[in-house]
Amino acid sequence: ADPLAVSVRVAPLGSRLVLVLVEDLTDRRRIEAIRRDFVANVSHELKTPVGALSLLSEAVADASDDPEAVQRFAGRMQIEATRLASLVQEIIDLSRVQDDRLLVDVEPVPVDELIAEAIDRCRQPAAAKQILIAAGGTGDLYLHGNRGQLAAALGNLVENAVNYSPPRTRVAIATRRISSAAVLGEADGELIEISVTDQGIGISEKDRERIFERFYRVDPARSRATGGTGLGLSIVKHVAASHRGTVAVWSVEGQGSTFTLRLPAGHAPVDELGDGSPASPA
Ligand code: ADP
Repeated sequence: ADPLAVSVRVAPLGSRLVLVLVEDLTDRRRIEAIRRDFVANVSHELKTPVGALSLLSEAVADASDDPEAVQRFAGRMQIEATRLASLVQEIIDLSRVQDDRLLVDVEPVPVDELIAEAIDRCRQPAAAKQILIAAGGTGDLYLHGNRGQLAAALGNLVENAVNYSPPRTRVAIATRRISSAAVLGEADGELIEISVTDQGIGISEKDRERIFERFYRVDPARSRATGGTGLGLSIVKHVAASHRGTVAVWSVEGQGSTFTLRLPAGHAPVDELGDGSPASPA
């Protein structure tokens, strides 16, 4: 675990009073460490698919009179390209969560749009494996948070559901509003629960304790084939925490997994000006 880190600032307020500001730096340290490790890792990880693509394209050129070999190389090029795309997506996600000392650019975010974006992000691997992603209607629910970070969190969960499921299975995304009275210790006010359920390989109890750690992968070889870096779930956890929400996992090995995000609910924007005042009749 990260050691507790705090910054302490002291300001005198007159002769008998001082103001002491204590800021928790643990979270900031954690994201800085993720970024540092990631840059070191990613440069190495990027070299592999780029190198493979370059070799494979040469091989295709040499094998132009052997259609079967061309087919085989093209298939491998497709796999390497997918891996490259997935690494680039991780870089984008990471840039979205960096530098969030304070959660900035907070707004009402329609859950429908987040789900559509997450599904769109996995369109290609889902189609290749004939995996159906089903999302129930969200009934116009909103989250309150940073759109880019929330998109990264949900996108990673849906992407994992597709990646760790066999072909011709289903991924279901369900959403509901819950009142926080029932879930003491979480953010005040209404919460939105979004769960992503797959019929995939599942996660053992031992691994469930570790999957949210950065760079932790149950099966590095398998995860590498899908472009996994082991960062996805640590990003999800970070986003949940910075929104004062939670992420939890439930799983039965060989049957599937459900990842559940609980995040603060938002309200539909009330006016076109975005100044928070109720729309007045013209
Ligand atoms: P990766 O980039 O390897 O997917 P993540 O941080 O997203 O990294 O996930 C960590 C590990 O947790 C994965 O390597 C995988 O072994 C496991 N995992 C994540 N999601 C699922 C899932 N839906 N089903 C089974 N295993 C999963």
